[in-house]
Amino acid sequence: MRLSKMLFVTLRDDPADAEIPSHKLLLRAGYIRRIGSGVYAYLPLMWRVLQKVSQIVREEMNATGAQECLLPQLQPSELWRESGRWDTYTKAEGIMFALTDRREQELALGPTHEEVITTIAREMIRSYRQLPLNLYQIQTKFRDEIRPRFGLMRGREFIMKDAYSFNADEESLKKTYQDMYQAYSNMLRRSGLSFRAVEADSGAIGGTGSTEFMVLAEAGEDEVLYTEDGKYAANVEKAVSLPAEAEIPSFSSYEKRETPGTDTIEKLCNFLKCSPTQVVKNVLYEAVYDHGTTVLVLVSIRGDQEVNEVKLQNELTKLASQYGGNAVIKLAVPDADAQKKWATKTFPLGYIAPDIADDYIQSTKDVAPKFLRLVDKTAVDLKNFVTGANESGYHVVGANWQEKFKLPTLIVDVRKARLGDRAMHNPEQTLKSARGIEVGHIFQLGSKYSKAMGATYTNEQGEEKPLVMGCYGVGVSRLAQAAVEQSYDKDGIIWPVAIAPYHAIVTIPNINDAQQVEIAEKLYTELNQAGIETLLDDRNERAGVKFKDADLIGIPYRIVTGRAIANGKVEVVERKSRNSHEIPITEIVSTLKGWIGDRE
Ligand code: ATP
Ligand code: MG
Repeated sequence: MRLSKMLFVTLRDDPADAEIPSHKLLLRAGYIRRIGSGVYAYLPLMWRVLQKVSQIVREEMNATGAQECLLPQLQPSELWRESGRWDTYTKAEGIMFALTDRREQELALGPTHEEVITTIAREMIRSYRQLPLNLYQIQTKFRDEIRPRFGLMRGREFIMKDAYSFNADEESLKKTYQDMYQAYSNMLRRSGLSFRAVEADSGAIGGTGSTEFMVLAEAGEDEVLYTEDGKYAANVEKAVSLPAEAEIPSFSSYEKRETPGTDTIEKLCNFLKCSPTQVVKNVLYEAVYDHGTTVLVLVSIRGDQEVNEVKLQNELTKLASQYGGNAVIKLAVPDADAQKKWATKTFPLGYIAPDIADDYIQSTKDVAPKFLRLVDKTAVDLKNFVTGANESGYHVVGANWQEKFKLPTLIVDVRKARLGDRAMHNPEQTLKSARGIEVGHIFQLGSKYSKAMGATYTNEQGEEKPLVMGCYGVGVSRLAQAAVEQSYDKDGIIWPVAIAPYHAIVTIPNINDAQQVEIAEKLYTELNQAGIETLLDDRNERAGVKFKDADLIGIPYRIVTGRAIANGKVEVVERKSRNSHEIPITEIVSTLKGWIGDRE
């Protein structure tokens, strides 16, 4: 492609609305244009990158025996009602774009395709002989994200590869899952990314496991905890660890103490001269279930620990049927306004005890009359602990479970693992922390959707069984931007060769020099013929401008038909290292072929 003929517009300054380097660079270098909130046009250079990523993804998927298809983006509401997800996706989470057609039928724009694929499986899979089966597509997804941001990282319209496997049993699913794990590792390695596969939260979907593939970068929205021995890595949402030992209690007998102005653990511990590990902290949450019931949840946890809200949400989801629901649609620490809706009197926030009376709750049709009391494992073994006295400005010391406070029957692990904690598998290893961009997520779904939608098959014994499913997603557009986030410098993007829009750019410093033009044209033609995807910068611009643009758009090799042509050579500059070589014109094609082959 000739730059003179291309829609090629680069910006000198950083666009105002872009926060992270990759977003700024893709806008500045003319790869993407913002059309609306979370909605971007992929311009020709970007489209080439996306096609390269897609092709790598496709090759790795095909190598596992998965088959490509293309599913509809318009999805009838009935399917989502069958799976039970219509209300959560359109109303509660509100992530799905829904619409009504001229016949008053409700439809949605696909945020994901479990419902569609399960319908197909229900109709087409009859026998174990058809299994296992893995279908995938590469397609635009729509999600009405609460906070679309960072360009392609969190769009409302983005490209995903999603695969769905159907297996006869868990064992077969595990095999497919392993194959996908390998395929995902290959995809990311081939795309030139530095990544980590981490244990992930499977959330309400349950199943026996899920892995996220994280591209390591400071701008990542996720935190990864890992050990240096390489044996453990998990998303902080899911991570487990050993808490520090609690200190020996400072108090030996039960007593109520006046502790003015101690509504935080820090102030309390300063006042009482004790350790946070001797305190039972009681955190109040408001949970709303999908059928509309609000439940006030009291979590008792050791004072030095924080509640992991993802783990808490999972525990609450397990209790959903008790409250006539399936899922928790909101979980938050209630502020003063929220409390007004159900509190009969002012809460002694910061001074709550594990036994705070249920008569604080004004029960209505939608509000459960009693606190749901949970205790985290870290608080269970504490002796002579400090906790609130249910009265502002007062705490109790020297308290024991079962003497002064009934130990909640629900003992759970809802603590947040954190940097510096000791690892479970080896207490000598401590957890390290890194930021990651989640580019892929693979999931063992089990039979949630097949059961809900009646997708069964007949096994060898002639019995009808629900299909066992897995699902496997890769954010193609997010991955492409993540590559930039991991590889740039002050002058622009540095694409990994495998996903660069072009391998090389031939730059003519002076288009009024006939010899420069002639050699450039010849190289441009020969390189492209040899399969080296090459741009020609034949614009009537100053050489400096051309070099700057080539750096900005991040093409791996720049070939300059400058002074060296007098000696039958051209200059070749590697974008990444900035190493420059003078190479005989006759050897350019073979040299570049070698370099690119090595890096792809
Ligand atoms: P996140 O936690 O970042 O919202 P998710 O768990 O909702 O991701 P999945 O439903 O597992 O994501 O989708 C599979 C992949 O699609 C993700 O790993 C990610 O790479 C990509 N993806 C998800 N949401 C977006 C988005 N809004 N914009 C771009 N890519 C996305
Ligand atoms: Mg999401």
